[in-house]
Parts: sequence; structure tokens; C-alpha cells
Amino acid sequence: MYEGRIARFDGPGKPFTIEKVSLADIGPGEILIKVTRANICGSDLHAWHGTFETRGLGGELPTVLGHEMVGTVAALGDGVTEDSNGKPLAEGTRVAFPYYTVCHKCRACLSGRRVACPHLTMAMLKRADKPPYFVGGYGDYYVLPAGAVVYTIPDAVSDELASGANCALSQVMHGLERVNQGFGETVVVQGAGALGLYAVAVAKARGARTVIAVDGVRDRLDLAAEFGADHLVDISEITEPRDRVKRVRALTEGLGADVVVEVVGHPSAIDEGLKMLGQFGRYVEIGNINIGKTVEFDPSRFVFSNKTMVGVSMYEPAVLSRALVFLEMYHDKLPLEKLGAATYALEDINEAFTAAENRRDIRASIVP
Ligand SMILES: [Zn+2]
Ligand SMILES: [Zn+2]
Repeated sequence: MYEGRIARFDGPGKPFTIEKVSLADIGPGEILIKVTRANICGSDLHAWHGTFETRGLGGELPTVLGHEMVGTVAALGDGVTEDSNGKPLAEGTRVAFPYYTVCHKCRACLSGRRVACPHLTMAMLKRADKPPYFVGGYGDYYVLPAGAVVYTIPDAVSDELASGANCALSQVMHGLERVNQGFGETVVVQGAGALGLYAVAVAKARGARTVIAVDGVRDRLDLAAEFGADHLVDISEITEPRDRVKRVRALTEGLGADVVVEVVGHPSAIDEGLKMLGQFGRYVEIGNINIGKTVEFDPSRFVFSNKTMVGVSMYEPAVLSRALVFLEMYHDKLPLEKLGAATYALEDINEAFTAAENRRDIRASIVP
């Protein structure tokens, strides 16, 4: 019998309710995770508001939100003995895992496109009023479904650092992998929130010669410099998009960037970002997840300069393993701890969401 609390989510606009539940047992192949930390990510906020409908993904209510989480193994279901890299798992092992599970058998999975798996399911979708109850990160426990990919967290990497690995960090790592960003290239990162800061650091780690961060908030830009940005473009100083494009051209020997990563989440960033690209430039589109918002753009510029735009939603599960390696390699070289400063107890989750919405913190975390 496993007893614990969940923060029940009844629907957009309704406050979370802390509820005690008890789970008789876990099934074969499942892993009971004692959640040690769950961040509040943009998509949790969107779900809370209703701008991202979990029902659109087959989600049911009530549920438990939270997907950017880490924890320790509390119990192993029958047949589970090791993580997805073959390392032995035991009670107490610290683990990270993608927030979604797939079948690993269908055409999409076998093509290395697991996020397109028709059997994909994820945290935050299942009902919280029946077993296994622990269906999202905002609770004492989370039941990792059978067949889930799971990785041991390296000793050198704290829970605080690892908690962002299964969403924000893996997301931008996958984005840069998708466009083969390589050694000596120039990279622009539009937006210096958590995703943008990771993008700056990962681009440098992948050998970028020049990384330019674009944002309108000075504190974020200063942080981007600490994460490795070589140049900062402050939107509050250079207010006209065309002047910002000129600035990027000037910083890239008149060529334009090889790669631009969009993590602002506003459609207007796209036209500007495409203009910042040089010949054969690759545009990584991650931020715009609000359906129905559109933008005008001139396709001839796209054609004449042989550009590519890649939409990136979710990531291959194995990217998370590399994200943990990245953290192990860079935890003492980057100010990563500045990404997860504010923590809230589970019972203060309503306050945490309000604070996250008002952007009082770069990122807020629930620590049950
Ligand atoms: Zn997320
Ligand atoms: Zn599949």
C-alpha cells in the first residue's frame, strides 16, 4: 500500500486541491517514483489556463499536472531490474525519465520518430480519481508506466539541475540535433528564458563559434552571457526588427546566422528570425505552441536563400540520456543552479502557479 498526496487538477481556472490517495500496488513493468522535484513548465501553465487543452491529447479530468520531474525509485514492478542504459535499478536510485511513453514497436517508433507513435501517452492525461492516481508530477509519487524509458541520474548532478532535463533541456538539445548544428557555426537564440539559456549553452557545447542571444529583459541577457552567449541583442535598446537583423548580420561577417532557435513563443519572432539566417540557414521552431496565432512572411526570401524550417515538438527518449551527460559535464562550468531558484511545497501549489504566471521566478519548482 502506497499512501501519498496529489494536487488534483479539476480543470482550467479552478484551484488545485491537495488530496490523499492510497494505491494498493503497482503493476508488472511499472516503477513507483518518489517525486523529489517537479518544475512548473510553460505547458503546465498553459494547461492551468486552458490555452493548452490536455483533452486535445485525449486527456481526462480530474488529473495531475506536472511533467518536468525527477525522483527516486520507491518500488519496482515485476520484471524491472535496470534502466534504459542497462544500469541496475534499486530502491532509492535517483532517476529521470521522459514524460511520455510509446510502444517501441510501431512504424513511427521503428523509424526513430517515437513522438509520432499512435500509442503515445503522457503524464497529465490520465484520471486522478482512480488507480494509479499518481499520474502527474505534482504529488508525492508518480507511477511510471510499463515500457517507459528511464535513466539513472549521475551522482554529480543534483535533483535541482536534473529536473529540467526531461523537458526544456532535452527539447533544445533535440532541436539543435535535428538541424545538425556543428562546429564553427553561428547561432542566434531568440528568447533567453530557461529554454533559451539551455540553447545558448548547448550550442556552445556543440562547437558554435558565435552565439547571439536576443531578448528584451536585461537580467535574462546578462544570464545568457553567463551561459556562453558571445553577443547580446537587447530588444529594448534596438527596438526595430530590421535593425536587429542588421546587427546579427554585422556580428556574422555579413553572412547571417547558420542556425536560429526560436524560444520566444510569439509568432512575430519568426519573420525576424528567418531574416537573421544566412544562405542555407536552418530555423528551429520550438516556442510557438498556441494554436491559431499566425504570421505573414515572404516565401521568396526563404526560397532564394535555401533556408529550412524545422518544427520541434518533444524529443526522442534517448536525448534525455545525453541531456544528463551534458549536465554531468557542465554542472560546474555553467550557472545552471540559477534556473531553478524558487521552490514551493506541494500544499502551496496555487501560490506557486500564480507566481510562475507573474514571472516572479525564471522557474518555479514544487518540492513535495
Ligand atoms: Zn515542459
Ligand atoms: Zn510506437
